[in-house]
This record gives sequence, structure tokens and C-alpha cells, in this order.
Amino acid sequence: MGDSGNGGRYERKHGVVFERDADHYRVTEFGRQLRGDAGYTAGRGAAAAGACRLGDERRVASSGVGNIKFDLTADPVDLTTAMVDIPSVSGMEAAIADALEEALHRQAPHLEILRDGNAVLARSAGSRLTRVLLAGHLDTVPVAGNLPSRRVGGLIYGCGASDMKAGDAVIAHLAATVNHPAHEITCVFYDCEEVMAARNGLARIERSHPEWLEADLAILAEPTNGVLEAGCQGTLRVVVSAEGRRAHSARSWLGRNAIHAAGEVLDRLNAYQPRRVEIDGCEYREGLQAVGIEGGVAGNVVPDACRVTVNFRFAPDRTVAEATAHVMDVFTGMDVEVIDSAAGALPGLHTPTARAFLAATGARPAAKYGWTDVSRFAALGVPAVNFGPGDPNLAHTKEEYVDTARITECADLLRHFLVSPAQ
Ligand SMILES: [Zn+2]
Repeated sequence: MGDSGNGGRYERKHGVVFERDADHYRVTEFGRQLRGDAGYTAGRGAAAAGACRLGDERRVASSGVGNIKFDLTADPVDLTTAMVDIPSVSGMEAAIADALEEALHRQAPHLEILRDGNAVLARSAGSRLTRVLLAGHLDTVPVAGNLPSRRVGGLIYGCGASDMKAGDAVIAHLAATVNHPAHEITCVFYDCEEVMAARNGLARIERSHPEWLEADLAILAEPTNGVLEAGCQGTLRVVVSAEGRRAHSARSWLGRNAIHAAGEVLDRLNAYQPRRVEIDGCEYREGLQAVGIEGGVAGNVVPDACRVTVNFRFAPDRTVAEATAHVMDVFTGMDVEVIDSAAGALPGLHTPTARAFLAATGARPAAKYGWTDVSRFAALGVPAVNFGPGDPNLAHTKEEYVDTARITECADLLRHFLVSPAQ
């Protein structure tokens, strides 16, 4: 038990500082009911009080500003527990953002703080030559009966434990406790990462406060099990259409079967040899796969159309235009339509700040498979990596947990890096 210095009014437990009627912590924390972003006013006296069943993702616990307080200087393991215990399903991050903003004002007064919707940003404003940005999303997927958190041995179970409140806790802890960094530091806690890109909080900050995203290296503390994942693949989806001529299947010689014609599309996919390419020490494996097929009119009709949807995941040394040209080449002579695409991100690990990060953490880089917010930074010209304590295989599962040893290790490695000068 500790004291925040506020006349002994607060107790400290599990990384949370709360008022003394703390026996009712669970009750008050989960005893308020929120109805989405618009209705959120909890902690400012207007939240409807009411019973809230744990695990009901549409009812979100309120930290209650001035009620639950994070202790950023506590062990990040305890801070993780505290953050997991404030539910923050996408769009409902106001309570956790309030608590985090309040804690940063109180415990990281050396940082300039910006609140943007449900995102909280903090940065130093010194004259060091390099800037490191640490980022984490505050939202989680819908709660699955897995709140409040449970501590079992060295594991913390609970919604968002791995993805990615452990990472958020490490960042917030470092924001408040790294005293003599070798780099300027920016921390970005943002909303709505787990939902459609149009709502992504980082994309909104990019539009409203782009200067806050300037850095020499961005580290997203997404779950990677302590492995450093750099860059990411690009993705392209195309539809390859085969045409035929419709006829009664009893007189099939009068028609031309489009599904049979699509066999040629599948043959080319089967024969395709995907490329492997190494960039900055990371191996990227490409893939060209049929992910959908559609055709057929009725049980007695020779079909006149068949569409094969093909997904190309490509290494980041190709642009979208080059990837498109490559796919067109594979399907030469066929009708190909591009339906969507997203650029990959080069790892950028050859830059001095990134090299210092590799040296300080001893982490061996691996290619990131899948598209992540790392790509946003890459598009801004900021080398970006994923490096966090959670386990990616547990993300979004009902059994989600984080190993506390990974949290301690990640916090130690990042702290060591932040005080190590660029090479
Ligand atoms: Zn995540």
C-alpha cells in the first residue's frame, strides 16, 4: 500500500491509485453504464448508475475521473492489470483515455500532452537530435466474459491483456519514469485500431496533428512476444473473370462453360512460384492465392460467367503499381480487375536510430506478415517496427493472457534503448 501524496486519501494497489473506499472498487468501477461514445460522460457526474454485468461489451465500466487513478510509476505488470480492468472496446475508450490523460498530467509533467478524441498523446520538447515514438492502441475487441482480469501465477488473463494493454502499460510507465533519455520521446495512445480503417485513431491524428507523428523511429508495442517485427507486406486483391456461353446442360455442346474456363486461372495459380526476398535482414515470403470463386446459374444451365478472387501478398520492395503489373503478367490474356490494394512497408532498419534499437534490445528482426499501422508510419517516411510483450497468437481470443515476465523484459529493453544514444 502506498500513498500518492494526496493527504493519504488514496491507496495504491495493482498499479491503480484509488480512493479509500476501495473495497467498493469493483462495484463502482463496473457499476456504471455507458451507451457508446456519444453518451459517454461518466466521471463527470452524468453517467447513469446501474447494474452492469461483467463481460457485456455494450456496457463499459467507467474509471470515473478522480476515482480510479493509474499509477504510472508502479510496476508495469500492475499497471497492465489496471488497464485491462477498464474495458475499452473500440469506440468506448473514453474512460481509459481519461484515466491515462490524468495520470500523465500528474506523473509525467515534463511532457506536453494532447487529447484528441479518445486518443492521448504526450511528448518531450527538448533539443535532442533524434525522436523515438512509442505507440499503442487503447481499444480491444468485444469483451468475451473475460473481465475483470485474473492473475494466475505469472499470467494476467483478461480482454486486451496481450493485445495490447501490456504494451500500453509499458509505454505509459516509460513515459513517466525515463529520466535522461538519449532521444526525444513521443507517446501515442490511440483509439479504434480493431475496427475498420476509416475509424482508426492514428489515421485521424495523421490528419489533425501530423506534426505529432514525426519521429526517427516508431515502435508499436503490438503483441510480438518480444520479437521485433519490421515492415510489412502489401496486399492486392483482383478478380479474374472467365466468360462462356449459356446453354441448357442437356444440350451442352451449344454452350461454353465459364467454370471450366476458370480452370486455366487455377492452373496458373498452382504453377506460380512465390518469391522470397530479404530486406534489411528480414525475409519476406510472397503469396498468390485464390481466396474466392463464384459461378453457376442453375442446376441445368451451362454457366456463362465465373469469377475467381485472387489475393497477392507482396514484399515491400514492390510498389502497388509494380505488384499490379506482376499480377496482370501472371494472368496475361485474361480479364483482371483490381478491387483493392494497400502498400507494404519497408523495414527501414538501416537508419541510425533503428540500428541503435537493434543493438540495445538485441532483438533479431523478422518480417511482419499482415498489414498493420506500421505501414502508416512507413508511408510518412518514419521507419517503424512492432515490438511488444503480448503474444500475437492469443490476441482476440477468449483465453487471452499475457506473461508478466514478457512485460518486465519489454519494459527493461525499451528503457535501455531510450537511454542509449543513436549510433
Ligand atoms: Zn493490437
